[in-house]
Amino acid sequence: MHPYYHPIFFFVDSEVTIIGAGVVGLAIASELSRYYSRVFVIERHDHFGMETSSRNSEVIHSGIYYRPGTLKARLCREGRDMLYRYCRGHDIGYRKCGKLIVATQKNDIDKLKEILATAHKNDVSDARMITAGEAEKMEPHIRTVQNLFFPSSGIVDIHGLMQSLENESVNRGVDFAYGCEVIGLKQDPGNHEYIISILDTDGSSFDFTSRYVINSAGLGAEKIARMAGIEDPQYKTWFWKGEYFALLNGKHKLINRLVYPVPEPNTTGLGIHTTPDLSGRQKLGPNALFLEDGKIDYSVDPTHAKEFYQKASRFLPFLEPGDLAPDQAGIRPKLQRPGDPARDFIIREEEKKGFPGLVNLIGIESPGLTAALSIGNHVRSLLKKYD
Ligand SMILES: Cc1cc2nc3c(=O)[nH]c(=O)nc-3n(C[C@H](O)[C@H](O)[C@H](O)COP(=O)(O)OP(=O)(O)OC[C@H]3O[C@@H](n4cnc5c(N)ncnc54)[C@H](O)[C@@H]3O)c2cc1C
Repeated sequence: MHPYYHPIFFFVDSEVTIIGAGVVGLAIASELSRYYSRVFVIERHDHFGMETSSRNSEVIHSGIYYRPGTLKARLCREGRDMLYRYCRGHDIGYRKCGKLIVATQKNDIDKLKEILATAHKNDVSDARMITAGEAEKMEPHIRTVQNLFFPSSGIVDIHGLMQSLENESVNRGVDFAYGCEVIGLKQDPGNHEYIISILDTDGSSFDFTSRYVINSAGLGAEKIARMAGIEDPQYKTWFWKGEYFALLNGKHKLINRLVYPVPEPNTTGLGIHTTPDLSGRQKLGPNALFLEDGKIDYSVDPTHAKEFYQKASRFLPFLEPGDLAPDQAGIRPKLQRPGDPARDFIIREEEKKGFPGLVNLIGIESPGLTAALSIGNHVRSLLKKYD
């Protein structure tokens, strides 16, 4: 651990403490460091981005699926534009490769029309319907009857992005405490601050205070909110695993763009799709497996290759069963169980609950990566009233 990252060198009092160094916590740190002088980031692992932020599709979403008026719709659209600008300005790898949603049967065409209507309501104005012929000119190896094309979708090097956000934060004076788990959070109303207890990897524990606390703990965010004394049934989080399989045998070279199926009804993911990365690899995934016991388990079940093959070969006719190898898995913190309607992000400054200056971010699943920079701005706007 780098010495200036070790908490005992600097823990006195902080103005802002951010719990969690995933892409969202880092984006918040970078933004808040423009306005506050003592900003701490506390992360239980020895490095940033060891959980959901390094286990996803790295897709910059255009913002088409989310109910108009929701935080997901607004922050995704704003975050997408900010992210492209940020990548250009900071030399971070990205590719605006575009995305196709492919209908493989006539029955799916109405669904494409619905998605297009939602896209337009969400101001994704470059989305358009294209014929099978046009799609096959872009991607000669796919099978389709009708398609939606989203030129503004892309992929990003999320590790480069997180590294840049960390560097920027450190340069603006943010202190990072890695290998430190938050094990207690309580309010000290007399002093208008919070007392945070942390456990270091060497087993020592200590407390410090913070005027503002940002709970950006991803899979651990509901637990942190409860530590503070907030028992809100709306914050109940369920874990859903998403597995990926890598495309082998040279088949990764046959596809260049993001190619998605029409989402199945009541689906909790976007359907098994192709995900190119910047090194030229291709993955298929993710599926959406409800983890009823809430245990974090990143294994990929090789027997699921069969289902991946069946679903993806509808639009990737060149696939053969032996072309898939288990790859990574990630876990989504969702606010819904199977069959429940889709829920929005919860990003709330908790003054109304009696916790002024505490911001909870709960259920930050997809499009959390795309929205990360705009979430940073949104969190700042929630704290502005205290200036
Ligand atoms: C399979 C999958 C695919 C996805 N694909 C996309 C995509 O293509 N595009 C997109 O926009 N989004 C996607 N997402 C969503 C995106 O990955 C997440 O929204 C985003 O990474 C969330 O970032 P975060 O910082 O909130 O959470 P995390 O990355 O989970 O960071 C939270 C951090 O908090 C730390 N923490 C937790 N508890 C404590 C504690 N008590 N003390 C100290 N530290 C703690 C954790 O160690 C962790 O590092 C996908 C997600 C999944 C699972």
